[in-house]
Amino acid sequence: MKTYAGGAPILSIVVPCYNEEEVLPETIRRLSGVLTDLIRENLIAEESVMLLVDDGSKDKTWDIIEESNQSNRFVTGLKLARNAGHQRALLAGLMKAKNTSDCVISIDADLQDDLGVIREFMLKFHEGYEVVYGVRKSRATDTSFKRNTALGFYKLMKWMGVDIVYNHADYRLTSKRVLENLANFEEVNLFLRGLIPLIGFKSTEVYYDRHERFAGESKYPLRKMLAFAFDGITSFSVTPIRLVTLVGFILFIVSIFTALYALVERLQGQTIAGWASLMISIWFIGGIQLVCLGLIGEYIGKIYKEVKRRPLYIVEEELESLRGIIEERV
Ligand code: UDP
Ligand code: MG
Repeated sequence: MKTYAGGAPILSIVVPCYNEEEVLPETIRRLSGVLTDLIRENLIAEESVMLLVDDGSKDKTWDIIEESNQSNRFVTGLKLARNAGHQRALLAGLMKAKNTSDCVISIDADLQDDLGVIREFMLKFHEGYEVVYGVRKSRATDTSFKRNTALGFYKLMKWMGVDIVYNHADYRLTSKRVLENLANFEEVNLFLRGLIPLIGFKSTEVYYDRHERFAGESKYPLRKMLAFAFDGITSFSVTPIRLVTLVGFILFIVSIFTALYALVERLQGQTIAGWASLMISIWFIGGIQLVCLGLIGEYIGKIYKEVKRRPLYIVEEELESLRGIIEERV
């Protein structure tokens, strides 16, 4: 077993929170319990914390984080200046947490993911795994629509040659080293579950059941989900643009035969017929061209975003754990 400065590894649990006032107090209470138990078992160091990232919430989320920071030694906080979205809020948390911990676990605030798995994550980490993916055993609590669209999405991604873990959301453990490497990825179109497998290192999976949201509503309406899936595909795969080339090629072959056919018809003096087919083909090709242009535009749009190199998030405030202050006083 690897040895750490304090005997056990320091763990940070990163929790992105967007308008989670209804569930956050319970989340903090339960995570504190988990941390206490793991410290007692000597699986993690005393210095372990949870880092609550307020992703520009409009409700009392930050107030709750500040208050808990004052009363609970496990609670640290990070407030983003505006809503940056789940992936960026998570990245902000990971990048801060990596400086002070040996491993980081990312989890949603809504208690959908089984907290019991955190212990299993740590056991795997002690075995030497640097990435541990939390994989949902069942999606019984999701609607069949969400289940099927998710399944379709994973299959599509696999088909396009993107290496993602099936039924894994962003509930995972990563080592400090993995995160230091993640920091070198500068892309703006963030899709962390596609990026982490790209980094490599020894990895494994842990299975769990997914519950209902403890309280509050999903912050991922269909619109955001589709945008996320589209981002995932176009950020990681060139298959769509290859398909465009393929379709273009097939059309080219077809058009040669069509031209030959038209020529023969013309020579035989039957040119009046064919108005319908002409109209159909004009519309058909017009349609295909528009689809292709749209797709190419999507990639150009991505290049445009990448070259702008805007900061992914802007930190407004940071809270450290009470512990440091107490130690200074002693
Ligand atoms: N979240 C966030 N910023 C956003 C949207 C969501 O930080 O713009 C957080 C949210 O607070 C939660 C996690 O991301 O902790 C996952 O969101 P949610 O549970 O609403 O998604 P679902 O589980 O329904 O897919
Ligand atoms: Mg959720």
